[in-house]
Amino acid sequence: MHMRINGAEMPSVSAEWRDVLNPATWEVIDRVPDGTSEDVRVAVESAESAFQKWSEKATRERGILLFHAASNVREQHKDLARLLTMEQGKPLREATDEVRGFCNVLEFYAGLSSQPAGDAVRLGAQGDCMVLHEPLGVCGAIIPWNMPVLIMGWKVAPALLAGNTMVLKPSSTAPLTILSISKILDEAGLPPGVLNIVTGSGASTGEAIITHPSIQKVSFTGSCATGCRISELAGARNKDVVLELGGSDPMIVMNDADLPKAVEGALRGRFYNAGQTCTAVKRLFVHKDIAESFIRQLKVRVESLNVGDGLDPRVEMGPLNNRQQFETLSGTMKSVRENEEGTILTGGSPLKGKGYDNGYFFEPTLVRDVIADSPLLTGEIFGPVLPVVVVPDLATAIRQANLSPYGLGASVWTSDLATVKRVYHEVHAGIIWVNRHLTVLPEIPFGGTKESGIGRENGYRALEGYTRTKTLFLGW
Ligand code: NAD
Repeated sequence: MHMRINGAEMPSVSAEWRDVLNPATWEVIDRVPDGTSEDVRVAVESAESAFQKWSEKATRERGILLFHAASNVREQHKDLARLLTMEQGKPLREATDEVRGFCNVLEFYAGLSSQPAGDAVRLGAQGDCMVLHEPLGVCGAIIPWNMPVLIMGWKVAPALLAGNTMVLKPSSTAPLTILSISKILDEAGLPPGVLNIVTGSGASTGEAIITHPSIQKVSFTGSCATGCRISELAGARNKDVVLELGGSDPMIVMNDADLPKAVEGALRGRFYNAGQTCTAVKRLFVHKDIAESFIRQLKVRVESLNVGDGLDPRVEMGPLNNRQQFETLSGTMKSVRENEEGTILTGGSPLKGKGYDNGYFFEPTLVRDVIADSPLLTGEIFGPVLPVVVVPDLATAIRQANLSPYGLGASVWTSDLATVKRVYHEVHAGIIWVNRHLTVLPEIPFGGTKESGIGRENGYRALEGYTRTKTLFLGW
């Protein structure tokens, strides 16, 4: 597949290509151009040319176009979900949810297009003020491979509705569905240059987007290490950034929780997308009174997960997305075993044997009695490994939950309102779920505290984030 610049398919000036592999089979499913800073320059120029006309349209017109685009993507959701499964690895059901989730985001922002944005301020004898929310200009977006389509929606929909144009770089291991969707958006009537997709490595195309003088704002989702680099590059140029970074969400299960519901919550919370979700349950704290029963039930469910190629409709968990992920996780679990960092109750190794040998398949894994300084608790484990810690009381659970450098999401499973109140006020996170985990919707602000990032996506405020105010002061 080619890049999409100015509404058309484009190779890279480098004439180099990168293969895109199916992580369940290691087959090459397609290839994309290995972009360069020159490709970024061309993409930014076309976004700049498109900006004026696009920003001068009534917001409602842009909204109608987003509605239309969402409807066209919905019509093709089956093919898109299949492609997403093939390049990303997730089961078809999850890929379908993700493509539909993208449409929901487009429709949510399209629906905001009829709300007036701006203020009028009466200042008595000094005059009156009118405050407009103007679009910023050309925005940059850089996204990861784990939920590529949904995250594309979180960035594209508010930016475009607000009247900006955009240059977006997908991850090299999941660019195909994004390119296909961008073609559908162009065909739905997006003027050429409004949305441009440049493929390539982070170091070449990614950094070229951030450092291009015409890029007004960069919205990034990815790892903390890359987020720091982006912060440095953007900060040195006084550019606005949104950084949606890693997480190590705690899930606290109290002794008054609905246990079957909590077991299913932990299972989905950790093993959805093979554990490669920023807000996955990455640390489980269970109250001692119910710990043995809870862990026993959870182990049965973890061992029952059907792992395989996501294209098989019976499969509940696919492979990891790429070699680096697979090797990192294998290394982490090797060190857990060698250094006795915890007791592995089930799993712990790459899956071997028929159907697994040519893919990045890893066993769904449960580890208990994890030592406090194990990377399972101190870092971000991006894969199907769940560390469980038994705690004597809520205070200990909250204290340990807050030991992580991350603060993306957290959940508490309880029937006691006083427990909810304490967790809501005391756990450091951008979102606290009660009796659920993982649900992120376009209406709800999403983003982290501490090392999990800066800024928020989704909700009305994200739309405002793609604008700046301009005041007209009328001194009568
Ligand atoms: P990554 O940081 O390696 O890559 C993300 C994107 O950044 C890719 O497109 C990559 O090519 C690009 N990139 C890499 N180096 C760059 C550079 N120097 N300059 C510009 N761009 C560069 O992350 P990943 O491995 O693709 O994704 C996994 C991480 O993303 C996890 O830490 C996960 O928690 C996080 N994540 C966060 C959220 C959130 O909303 N908070 C959502 C999903 C994923």
